Amino acid sequence: MRIVKNGDVHVSAPIGIAREKVMAFIDEHRDWIDKARQKVSDSQLQRSAFYGRLPLATRAQADEALRRLKALVEPMVERHAKEMGVKPSVVYYKPTISRWGQCNIKDRSICISMYVLLLPEWCVEHVVVHELCHLLEPSHNARFHALMDRYFPCWREARKATRQICKDGK
Ligand SMILES: [Zn+2]
Repeated sequence: MRIVKNGDVHVSAPIGIAREKVMAFIDEHRDWIDKARQKVSDSQLQRSAFYGRLPLATRAQADEALRRLKALVEPMVERHAKEMGVKPSVVYYKPTISRWGQCNIKDRSICISMYVLLLPEWCVEHVVVHELCHLLEPSHNARFHALMDRYFPCWREARKATRQICKDGK
């Protein structure tokens, strides 16, 4: 049994089991369901509170965010790309919530989430180096991690800190 994003309860049961049995099972676990549902909605609230800290609804807000992003990210890209001997074709920004960055290996473009503005600078740098690393190694394999160790040794800490910030909304 599990709770999905919208708070629905999904129950897996063997084929042929009586509907009453399933319903009884759900009833027995009512407390667990309520708690799990509360947890889902709490984390969703925290998430939207976190991302809501960067308002992007108006043109002026988006322009201001882009201006700040360019000032923050471009020098990082320039510095690390040079050190790593790579050259992205373009770096652009999108209000992506699901991921911090994305590297398109085919056209060698890099997309950075506008929400990196909510992260401390070293965590933004981690996202930048991670995506640049993909220009050298597309997969998250041992070679990729070795490259990260070389070009951004504290990547594990940065990844952990980023996840924590998102979760706590601090
Ligand atoms: Zn990656």
